Amino acid sequence: MAEPKVVVLPGDGIGPEVVEQAVRVLIAVAPDVAVEERLIGGAALDAVGHPLPQETLDACLRCNAVLLGAVGGPKWDCIQPVELRPEVGGLLALRKALRLNANLRPVRTFPALAAASPLKAENALVDLVVVRELTGGIYFGRPRERREGGRVAVDTCLYSVDEVEAVAHVAFRLASQRRRRVTSVDKANVLETSRLWRETVERVSSAYPEIELEHMLVDNCAMQLVRNPRRFDVILTENLFGDVLSDEAAVLTGSLGMLPSASLRTGQGSSPFGLYEPAHGSAPDIAGTGRANPLATVLSVAMLLRTSLARPEAADRVERAVERVLDAGVRTADLAEAGQAWVGTREMGDALLADLKLGR
Ligand code: NAD
Repeated sequence: MAEPKVVVLPGDGIGPEVVEQAVRVLIAVAPDVAVEERLIGGAALDAVGHPLPQETLDACLRCNAVLLGAVGGPKWDCIQPVELRPEVGGLLALRKALRLNANLRPVRTFPALAAASPLKAENALVDLVVVRELTGGIYFGRPRERREGGRVAVDTCLYSVDEVEAVAHVAFRLASQRRRRVTSVDKANVLETSRLWRETVERVSSAYPEIELEHMLVDNCAMQLVRNPRRFDVILTENLFGDVLSDEAAVLTGSLGMLPSASLRTGQGSSPFGLYEPAHGSAPDIAGTGRANPLATVLSVAMLLRTSLARPEAADRVERAVERVLDAGVRTADLAEAGQAWVGTREMGDALLADLKLGR
C-alpha cells in the first residue's frame, strides 16, 4: 500500500491528550503513514458550528483509516436539537456515514495488571474479542413509535441474511488468526431474527471448516462471561446483545483505560476501512490534568495497523511495547495500586517511545 493516510480526530476532553501519545507511537512504527488532523464533537461545534463538519467527513471518506479520541462533555450535554450534540451529530453520524457495520472489541488482560481484574486469579487472564453487528437490529429497525396516545411503544428488530453474513465472515476470519473458536450469541429460543441469525451463521461456518462454532443463548453468555471468560475466543453477536455483552466483557480487565476498539466496513477484501477508538469516553473529570491513560488509544493504533493497513509486524511491535512497559512497572494513575507511583499521559508515551527506540 503506497503512503496510507490516517485521519486523526482528537475530539473532546481527554481525547486530544490520549490521541497525541497514540500518534507519536504510530509515527514511530510507521513513519511513512500520512497523518491528517480534523475536528469532531464539541470542539468542532465550538469552532465551526457543527459536531461533524463536512470537511471532516470528506477527509474520512478519502483515507485508509480513522483514529478517534472521544467526544462529548458537560458543556454540550443539553444542546438542542440533539442532532448537534457531539455523540449524536458527531460520532454516531460519522459511524453511519462511513457505513461501519462490524464492531470489534478485544478484551485482553495484561499479566502485569491481573490484580486489577474483578475476577478470581485463575480467571483473570482473559483474551477474547466481541464482534458486534453495528448497523442493523433493533437500534435501526422501523417502525419505532408510540401508539394509543403514547401508552404503547414499538421498536422493530430486523435483520437480513446479507447483514448477518457480512459480520459473520469478520468473526470467522478473526478466529482463524486466533484460537479458532466462534461463539455465536442469540436468543433463538424466542426471537425470529435470532433463528435467522443462527441459520445464517451456521451456513457461513461451512466456508471455515477449521473453526469450531458453538451457539449460545445471550442470557447464558452473560453468565459465562463472569463465571468462565477464558472459555471464549471470538464472540459473534447482533447489535443490542453486543452492546450489553461488550460492556460486561470490558470490565473483566479492570480498567477502561486499556480497551481499544475498531469499527469496520466489511466486504472490501482483507484490509477493510475502519474507525479506531478507545472504548472509554472523554473523561471530563480528569481532562486537562495530564492523568489520562493513553494505552487504549495506543492499542487502537495497533488494531489500525493490523487491520486497515495490513502491517501486522508494526502492530505486534506496539503491543509488545505496551506489554514491556507494563511489565517494567510503569503505570498511569488509573492502573496504579494503592501507594504505587504513577506517571502522566505524556510520560507513558515517552516510556513507549523509549522502548520502541530500542528496536524491539
Ligand atoms: P468515560 O469513559 O469518559 O469515563 C468514565 C470514568 O472512567 C471516569 O471516571 C474517567 O475519568 C475514567 N476514564 C475513562 N477513560 C480513562 C482513561 N483513558 N484514563 C483514565 N481514566 C479514564 O465515561 P462517562 O464519564 O460516562 O462519559 C463522559 C463523556 O464522554 C460524556 O459526555 C459521554 O457522552 C462521552 N462518551 C463518549 C464516548 C466516545 O466518544 N466514544 C464513549 C463514552 C462516553
